[in-house]
Amino acid sequence: MDCIFCKIVEGSIPSKKVFENEHVLAFEDIQPAAPVHILIIPKKHIPTMNDVGKEDAALIAELFAAARHIAAERGISEDGYRLVNNVNRDGGQVVYHLHIHLLGGKKLGALLA
Ligand code: C5P
Repeated sequence: MDCIFCKIVEGSIPSKKVFENEHVLAFEDIQPAAPVHILIIPKKHIPTMNDVGKEDAALIAELFAAARHIAAERGISEDGYRLVNNVNRDGGQVVYHLHIHLLGGKKLGALLA
């Protein structure tokens, strides 16, 4: 499959892993937009949030649980952080494998443009 994040899951493309369990992988974004910038992905290939089915409910919960866990581990839970999911062209999605950006470690600017 020609998906860069599937290759990261397989290990054929390297990444700086920060969390992994049976269904979820998290790794450092290669172009960090904040002091903490981690991508949290399902190991299963789901292209976008539009493709999430009812059968994925537990998996989506696991992505958010991983985000919360990583934020706590990085010591940013109390100060706060931002979770972002870009969907398709207008949302700014570049990699078509579902991922949540975990951003923090500084006061983030206003989001809405
Ligand atoms: O949400 P979007 O699809 O735009 O984000 C993709 C993200 O994946 C970017 O922040 C990019 O830096 C990151 N990326 C990465 N490692 C790769 C390819 C892309 O961390 N090998």
